[in-house]
Amino acid sequence: MAHKLFTYDDKFTQAIFAYCAERLAMNPIPLDYGSLHPVPDSALKGLITDQGHAPEEILNLFRDQLAPSVVSIDSPGFLAFIPNAPTKNSLLFDMVVACSGLNGTSWLEAEGVVVAENQALEFLVERVGLPAGSGGAFVSGGSIGNLSSLTVGRDVGRARHPELKPWEVRFAISADAHSSIGKALHVLGVNPLYVETDDHRMTVENLKAALAADPHPESVVGVVATCGTTNAGIIDDLEGIGAYARANNLWFHVDGAYGGATIFAPSMQEEIKGLRHADSFIVDPHKWLFAPLDCCALLYRDPTTARKFLAQQAGYLDILHGDEEEDYKWNPSDFGIHLSRRARGLPFWFSLVTNGVAAYESAVEAGLDLAKMAVKKINSLDFLELVRPEGLSIVLFRRKGWTDAQYNQWSRQLLENQIAFVTPTKWEGETVARLAFLHPDTSEEMVDAILSSMAD
Ligand SMILES: *Cc1c(COP(=O)(O)O)cnc(C)c1O
Repeated sequence: MAHKLFTYDDKFTQAIFAYCAERLAMNPIPLDYGSLHPVPDSALKGLITDQGHAPEEILNLFRDQLAPSVVSIDSPGFLAFIPNAPTKNSLLFDMVVACSGLNGTSWLEAEGVVVAENQALEFLVERVGLPAGSGGAFVSGGSIGNLSSLTVGRDVGRARHPELKPWEVRFAISADAHSSIGKALHVLGVNPLYVETDDHRMTVENLKAALAADPHPESVVGVVATCGTTNAGIIDDLEGIGAYARANNLWFHVDGAYGGATIFAPSMQEEIKGLRHADSFIVDPHKWLFAPLDCCALLYRDPTTARKFLAQQAGYLDILHGDEEEDYKWNPSDFGIHLSRRARGLPFWFSLVTNGVAAYESAVEAGLDLAKMAVKKINSLDFLELVRPEGLSIVLFRRKGWTDAQYNQWSRQLLENQIAFVTPTKWEGETVARLAFLHPDTSEEMVDAILSSMAD
């Protein structure tokens, strides 16, 4: 039966390319407004109909009525949460991935994707200091990367401890671990052992003290460390914890979703050298490695074990796995909590290959420099006060005398004036201001405008 779905149309294709080109050429990328400018109910009302609409009409609706209600996470003025600053060539290549309908599920279907993604992963393996043969896959984000890693860690822990009931195995984590770590343990039915820290940085001494104070330290089968906490950019004692974990048969997972990007920062190599101990490690190229959403690189020291626990098995999938171990070809689907996947690592691969490593190194260092510059300015203004030294590219500071409502009002006003998107955070119970740098085009003038907007 003849179908009526959209088929290729040159005019509409050119309209889409023109929209994309216009967007890519914007310099600087405008912040836009997010929910500050709500979408009117009338915009989408009754839009889904039997006959459909002309695509040009809906593209215009998107441009005029929807797009302005999205804050551009890739604007150099976006300094809230963790921003995203994809290179222009990674965005363009994402269009290639989209227009080719590229699938990245298995070797059988997508060898041409998998070899390129694996080249990028192998480069990360080397930078992290993991042994050759380590590897994994690109998954949708840090949350799924953490969940996948901790699933393997839990299963390895259970296998090592047949004397424990399956639900008894636990992971040691610090209260500053990302919320997705707690969520992953919740999903896995694994209880955390909370490690008390002195100043939000978990050390091996903290870990040993928590184990010594616990009535069942033998049930702790792994430990999660953070390379750059999201709120404050703090790097745990990776070397101490990692060496201890390896010596004591604990699964060592490092969450570097944000700060793992410092594998590209020459100035940070001493602080992160303990990454080499990781059994599993994640970094989000969609944060500080200049790739578009949604992309997390997930690495295992022993990928064979990881896929034994994670690969989906089904009669119709047997052909992907081969009969013999030595026949195994790499299926990205085998290394995470997923099956079908788009070739989401390719925009990052393309960006790394085309920009080159030196450009990546200087761009990551630029984020670190921006934080140092902001700290100097904060210290020079008497109405502001630093909460703590900058952590990687994150700066926490307070406006003396402000209430929570004043921080919120200031945040809204900065966005309304299209100066910046900055949101307050909580630090030790207090509402404070937070700047998260990583866009290499964020300027000193922007920082000046943000800080001076906090004067009386
Ligand atoms: C952002 C972040 C995550 C979650 O990553 P998503 O890609 O948002 O799922 C996990 N851990 C840390 C440290 C993060 O900064």
